[in-house]
Amino acid sequence: MHTPALRPAWVEIDLGRLRQNFARIFAEKPRDLRLLCVVKDNAYGHGAVPVARFAVECGAHALGVVTVDEALALREAGIRAPILLLGERTGAELEICVQHQLTPCLHEPAAAAAFARLCAAAEVKRPFHVEVDTGMSRYGVRWTEGAETIRQLAAVPHLALEGVMSHFAMSDELDKSYALLQLHRFERVLAALQELRLRVPLRHMCNTGGYLDLPQAHFDMVRVGILPLGVYPSKTCRRIPGLEPVMRVLTRVAEIRQLQPGDRVGYGMRYTAREPRRIAVLPVGYGDGYPRVRNQGQVLIHGQRAPIIGGNAMDATMVDITAIPTAKKWDEVVLQGRQGPHEISANEIAQRKRTVCYDVLAGWRSRLPRVYKEGETVP
Ligand SMILES: *Cc1c(COP(=O)(O)O)cnc(C)c1O
Repeated sequence: MHTPALRPAWVEIDLGRLRQNFARIFAEKPRDLRLLCVVKDNAYGHGAVPVARFAVECGAHALGVVTVDEALALREAGIRAPILLLGERTGAELEICVQHQLTPCLHEPAAAAAFARLCAAAEVKRPFHVEVDTGMSRYGVRWTEGAETIRQLAAVPHLALEGVMSHFAMSDELDKSYALLQLHRFERVLAALQELRLRVPLRHMCNTGGYLDLPQAHFDMVRVGILPLGVYPSKTCRRIPGLEPVMRVLTRVAEIRQLQPGDRVGYGMRYTAREPRRIAVLPVGYGDGYPRVRNQGQVLIHGQRAPIIGGNAMDATMVDITAIPTAKKWDEVVLQGRQGPHEISANEIAQRKRTVCYDVLAGWRSRLPRVYKEGETVP
């Protein structure tokens, strides 16, 4: 696990914090509420296998991913927990689901029949979930046809209806009106299923925002991805005391230069020194997933903020360290995370990149080695 960084730029994953975050979440969640940990896109850049292992160890009921490759990587790592595949599956993928015990979402009779044929050929009975589209117009059966379709799917031999789910379009902002409309639509489908005496073991609707702010939508299980990573999806959603970001992104000062008045910095000559300045060159850029900016954003050196100057390149970023005279070559630099009293959050970088924190976390390229740190924060 303790891969030494070969490059003076890396993503640090603090497993002690991850474990602590899971412990805090499990300590505060309602006892009967199950948790599915979403580890898609390499657990938002943190490494799907270690995050999945900790999730299961801490008591997660299941794991969620989006691609079959993501699911197979977990199986190859020896993870035996139930894996729910979110989204749509091709016929070829359904075959792999049967072989590797992956649970698909199905909402069309033809897909269910195809899955059932594969299960019959393998002489097994397999669970599936049905997604109900309650207002996101993405995957699933439209809520108006939900109950009737689910009734048909539940009757297909060799298949067991294990779950019915939906997904919020906006659950983490103060205005919950659309989320409540979606909840109302989902509840109507569930009530119709109850009238048909159809038992649904796992009803689930909430992502992190819903889990935090909409307890009335918890049902039997919640699907959280970003929460155990210690990052909140919005400024306004509820906070869980003690949750801390698991990821930090670091580099080292690769070069220090003295600028004379009139000196230019970087491509496009976007910065001109007005007076003597001291700058540091950092060996990272947009080729690592760092946002491409001009004279915008900051990094942390010696626990102080140092502003980015000029336009950063694919492999280099220049920062002004005139105010940090003790900074020297190969000193540690934090691009994302805490150093001393200051923190540069994924949300702060998201603003600079005009995107969401999910995109920032998942956007750090594999070119940056992942260094796993056990940490001292084991509960
Ligand atoms: C990604 C995803 C989640 C997890 O969302 P978070 O906000 O990271 O908790 C839950 N459900 C579905 C369907 C998803 O695609």
